[in-house]
Amino acid sequence: MTELTKPTQDMILCKEGEVVLKGLNKKYFEQKLTQNIRRRLKPLGSFRVNVLQSVIYVEPQDEFADVDGAFEALQKVFGIMTLTRAVACEKDKDVILRTAMEYLDDELRSAKTFKVESKRSDKGFPMTSIELSQYVGGELNEAYDNLTADMHHPDLIVHLEVRDRAAYVHGAPVPGAGGMPVGSNGTAVSLLSGGIDSPVSTYMMAKRGLRIIPVHFFSFPYTSELAKEKVIDLAKILTAYCGRLFVEVVPFTHIQEEIRAKCPEEYFTIIMRRMMMRIADEIAKKNACGALITGESLGQVASQTMEAMLATGDAATLPILRPLVGMDKEEVIRIARQIGTFETSILPYEDCCTVFTPRHPCTHPKLEKVLEAESALDVDMLVEEALMNREMVKLDPRSLL
Ligand code: ATP
Ligand code: MG
Repeated sequence: MTELTKPTQDMILCKEGEVVLKGLNKKYFEQKLTQNIRRRLKPLGSFRVNVLQSVIYVEPQDEFADVDGAFEALQKVFGIMTLTRAVACEKDKDVILRTAMEYLDDELRSAKTFKVESKRSDKGFPMTSIELSQYVGGELNEAYDNLTADMHHPDLIVHLEVRDRAAYVHGAPVPGAGGMPVGSNGTAVSLLSGGIDSPVSTYMMAKRGLRIIPVHFFSFPYTSELAKEKVIDLAKILTAYCGRLFVEVVPFTHIQEEIRAKCPEEYFTIIMRRMMMRIADEIAKKNACGALITGESLGQVASQTMEAMLATGDAATLPILRPLVGMDKEEVIRIARQIGTFETSILPYEDCCTVFTPRHPCTHPKLEKVLEAESALDVDMLVEEALMNREMVKLDPRSLL
């Protein structure tokens, strides 16, 4: 067997998810996706990224490019359905065979059963995909005593793809993050607390293609600097999915003190949440956002009944997206663990909502009663003041590394 003349150059093939279904918008979605991929890979070295027939080819341009890091990072990029490491070679049946034997040697030695699956989009290639599979499969069967062919449940599938520019050999693809490319459906403000729910709701809406602006309300000194750090840490974890984030941290202490001093106790929480909505709504409008996102789930706490949602929603002009509204806590926790936010969310620093919790919150507030209870506040001044004193924390995905 002759050696390969070129050293094997490992690369990554990504298959697009829902993006391919988008008909006329396909170009736009693909552009967003490749732009997001390029940005995500920037700190990892020099890569060439291009799309051909719904496959994104990610090729390292020199030996310094971190292909392992890229493979890991791309598993969290929305819009990719599956991804696999692959090697490119000349479009010749014997070169393809030798490449498969070299590139998948470990897998070929440890498997008991296998099959070869070929795809041919270059119709100029002299064999059909079935002929190529039969040829390479037959040769591999002879070369490895441990292997027998199994068309139905093989341990190993050797994938061969004959495409326009080259042939590619790869093993099993792994699932990607799915969803739609971040930014392809616009931008929204996500209200991010230090709890379990809002990091999950942020992740879910980023998955639906929204670019996210996280907003956090911070009640220093009632809540500590550590409580703020915790939210920043959660946002850092989310950058792996959302890309770069500009977190808006809004001081909330004065508003809470005013509510406590001037409003009936049973309405504290609902008025506080209306103030959050107003401020988030203003930040959203300044950033051309189309919606607000919260981690509310129906009936989970007093402020998450339908009447409470009506009363809080009334304070916002934009639609409020609540992706967790129909989910159980267990389901939310499962996602929180999967995306890596759970361990940080359960750190014990208190949230601003728990600072002035009423003993008997009104669970079914009437909007007019809430408006009356709120009328003692100088709402415009408080919103203006909070907006003026907010600070922005910029987080890049590479800050994770
Ligand atoms: P979470 O686990 O997300 O904190 P929760 O179950 O504790 O949610 P609430 O405290 O009632 O519920 O908050 C409901 C939603 O309001 C949160 O999911 C979040 O979107 C928003 N929110 C609450 N507190 C804050 C905060 N301090 N800063 C920003 N958003 C907040
Ligand atoms: Mg909370």
